[in-house]
This record gives sequence, C-alpha cells and structure tokens, in this order.
Amino acid sequence: MSIKPLVLFMTSEMYPFSKTGGLADVLGALPLTLHRMGVNTAVVTPMYGRFATSGFNLRLLTERCPVGYPWAPITAEIYQADYYGMPVYFVGRGEYFDRRFLYNTHAGDYFDNCERFNFFCRATLEWARRLDWAPAVIHAHDWQSALVPAYLHFWRRTDPYWKDTKTVLTIHNLAFQGRFASRLFFDSGLPAEAWNMNGAEFFGDFNLLKTGIAYADAVTTVSPTYAEEILTPEFGCGLEGLLRRRRGVLRGILNGADYSVWDPRDDKFLPCIYRSGSPEGKLDCKRALLKEMCLPDQLEDKPVLSFIGRFRGQKGVDLLVSIIPRLMEMEIGLIVLGEGKLEHEAKLQELAEEHHDRLCVIVGYSEDLAHRIQAGSDIFLMPSRYEPCGLTQMYALRFGTPPVATAVGGLRDTIVPYPHPQATGFTFAEPDPESFYQTICEAVDLWKNKKAYWRGMVERAMSQDFSWEKSAARYIELYQSLGARV
Ligand code: ADP
Repeated sequence: MSIKPLVLFMTSEMYPFSKTGGLADVLGALPLTLHRMGVNTAVVTPMYGRFATSGFNLRLLTERCPVGYPWAPITAEIYQADYYGMPVYFVGRGEYFDRRFLYNTHAGDYFDNCERFNFFCRATLEWARRLDWAPAVIHAHDWQSALVPAYLHFWRRTDPYWKDTKTVLTIHNLAFQGRFASRLFFDSGLPAEAWNMNGAEFFGDFNLLKTGIAYADAVTTVSPTYAEEILTPEFGCGLEGLLRRRRGVLRGILNGADYSVWDPRDDKFLPCIYRSGSPEGKLDCKRALLKEMCLPDQLEDKPVLSFIGRFRGQKGVDLLVSIIPRLMEMEIGLIVLGEGKLEHEAKLQELAEEHHDRLCVIVGYSEDLAHRIQAGSDIFLMPSRYEPCGLTQMYALRFGTPPVATAVGGLRDTIVPYPHPQATGFTFAEPDPESFYQTICEAVDLWKNKKAYWRGMVERAMSQDFSWEKSAARYIELYQSLGARV
C-alpha cells in the first residue's frame, strides 16, 4: 500500500482548541485547506488545561510516549482528535500545559517556557518517530516549535529515519523570539556546534526562533511585504543579518482568511446575516451591537468605529488612546475590544467612563463579540506599528467595514488605499497620532458626505478574496521545491 507523504504541522495554538491570536486562526485553517486539496496533513499541538474539544472525538493514544530529554527520561501523553477528517495530535504533560494561560500571566512569562516548548518539540519528534513513515515535511510555526528544524538538521546526519524529512519554519511575528539563558541551550540536547552567532546564540542568550531560522530548510513569513521588511534593522528585531544570509530560502506567503468562520453571509455569532449588495442586514447588526454595548440608538446614523486586538505597542493602541479625546469631539461612536498592557486597559476604561455615551471599551477576550463588532461597526481601526500579516483587517473587509490602517507589512498587501479607484480602505504611512487622526477624519468625511462612494467601497471590500486555497497552493509549491512529493 502506498502512503501519501505526510506534512506534519507543529503549533503552540490552533483554533478552535486554543487561541491567543492570529497564529491559532492560521493553524485552524491552513492544514485543513491543504487536506481538502488532497495533501496528507496532520497537526501536533499542546494539550492545554482549558480546552474546547467537544465534537472532535478526542481519545488517548498513549499515556507514556517516552521523550528523550537529555537530562531525565520523561513521558508525554498523546491524544488524537479528528478535525473534519484530519488528525490532530495533542501532546500532554500536566505540569507543563495544564495552566490557565498558554504562555504568560499578567505578571509575565511562565518561568519555564523554554523547557515547556522544548518538551513539546521533543515529544512531537518522538511521536513522529513512531509513525510508519517519517513525515515528508515538518512545518513548524514560531519560536515554540522552532527547535525542530535544528534537531532534524543534526539528527539527519546519523539517523536514516529522518533523511528525507524537510523542515519549514513560518515566522508569524519576529518580535517574539523565545530568548532564554544560555545554560538552557546546554540542556536542550542540541550539539555544541550549534552554539555560535550564526546558529542558536544571540548576544550570549539561547534564541529559539533564531535557531530555527538558522537550520530550517525553508523559512517563510506571512506576507510578501513583511518578508522584505524583516531584512532591515527597523523591522528585523536584531535578526536581520541572519535573515539576509538566509534570504535564498526565505519567502513571504500571505495568510488567508477562513471564510467558513468569518463571513457575514453565514456567521453563527451574528444577530442577522447579510451579503454584499444588500447592506440592510449590516444596519441591523449595527443596531443590535449598539444595544449590546449600551450605546444610544442615536449613533445608528453616525459612523461607528471599532478596534479589536491586543493592547500592545505593535497594534498602536497607544496611538488610538492618544487621539480618543479628539475623536470624541466628532459625531461618532467607538467600540474597543482587547486586552494586554494594564496601563492601556486602565486608560481606555477611564476614557470610556468619561465618554460613556459614545465610547465603549470591553477589556477581555470574546470570540463571538469580535464577530459582532466586525459586522456592526462602519470603520475598522488598525494603527499597527508593524504587522506581519494581520487577519482582522481581512475580516473587516469581508464584513464591509473598511479599515483605516498603517501602510506596513500585510496591511499593505491586503488594503487598496483611498483615493485609488479600486480603494477598499485607508492607509497612512507613519504610525504617528496626527497621521492616524487625519486619515480617520478622511474616512468619516466620506462616510458622512459621499454615501454612494462609500457603498461602492464597501462592495469592493466585501468582494475581496483572501481565501486560503490561494495561499495553500503556494505552500504546496514550496514543499515540492524542497523535493517533497506531496
Ligand atoms: P495578532 O495575531 O497579531 O494578534 P491578527 O490580526 O493576525 O493579530 O489576529 C488576531 C485574531 O485574534 C483575530 O481573530 C481577532 O479577532 C482575535 N482577537 C484579538 N483580540 C481579541 C479579543 N480581545 N477578543 C476576541 N478576539 C480577539
């Protein structure tokens, strides 16, 4: 019997099982899209404590998968779920993964993150070692999985099982590198030769993402523009030198949007559905959202702006905070959903108290509310300082909520900025409060005074197609270029 070569994905989060951001959305969609296109795919991810697995037939495969740590023999539990016909394997070990959050609490990162995710990498490889055939490709994502390309780079030399397995590392955000004390390198089981400035070492520390970039057969990031930007000191987060050296194996492949989850034509979280060409449903969503947010009905015929995202410098939430007093002088509503730095949470809540009839701030994480805000608002704000790809602006486009965004990374690759005849949104060059404010004013002015033009822009936005199939085809090309016959 011939078995189709396997592409094994590794990820620290996957929607709908676990999620802190866009990485989860990508892993919830890309492997399944490939699977539906005929590629044999599977995913490995940690078994966290708080977990949505109902309906996916979760079962224990083994309680004691030995994990060959160099310092102590320990074991992992391996579970399997069926995700619409594709296997998802979960690596369990209570002491590492049975925690309230994935990576950190408000007080900071978990102290043992290096150990936790190295364990995840080692357990995945031990599990893959037990399959009948070695995977054709192991596709790792972000620093949490980045040691796998390095292990295979060295193990291939002596272990024939891995000789044909290629590795791909996708960087979803270069700012998160997994940087730890050097002694943890010597605990990792990587050979001493990897400890050099072109390998695992980064200014005396052990850098997991750097290690992966150095040893993966191919490196990708999530938009063509970000793939260029990260070669510069401005966006390279100190890794631009290594990335330039590895330029030959680096590609930018734009993420897709999962329209089976994010589409107002068929969205289980909305009070009513709507489609391009019949905007009445969007107005109903707006009415319902205003009610849900306890904002006055009078805002119905005023533009309602929204922001959804992590309250971090990357997302430019401080730019938003700094212009809210001026925005509140305009006849608009504003809804903000997110969590992150306490100082931003506190300031936003203070502003919301002051302007309670026009500004609503929800501190926290709510998947279903994110959908209703996308649908019920008119203009989506995304003043990111950098944006590897960004998914929320793609969702906003599909929901007919033109974005106002910085012209960086994936935002440049997905928004056609006004005044282009095919405009789908608005961009501004520099992430400073004044440019952001002026661009919002431009959008608000068009919304208020050029209704017909605005409707056209909404139509164009809603008809943009960032479906995963196109991006998945690029990954297939990439795997094949490495010699994998997927
Ligand atoms: P990033 O991965 O950098 O956080 P993306 O735009 O790629 O940004 O993806 C963010 C994802 O997380 C989207 O699905 C967005 O709706 C979701 N999200 C972010 N913050 C929240 C929140 N507070 N509540 C619900 N969903 C959120």
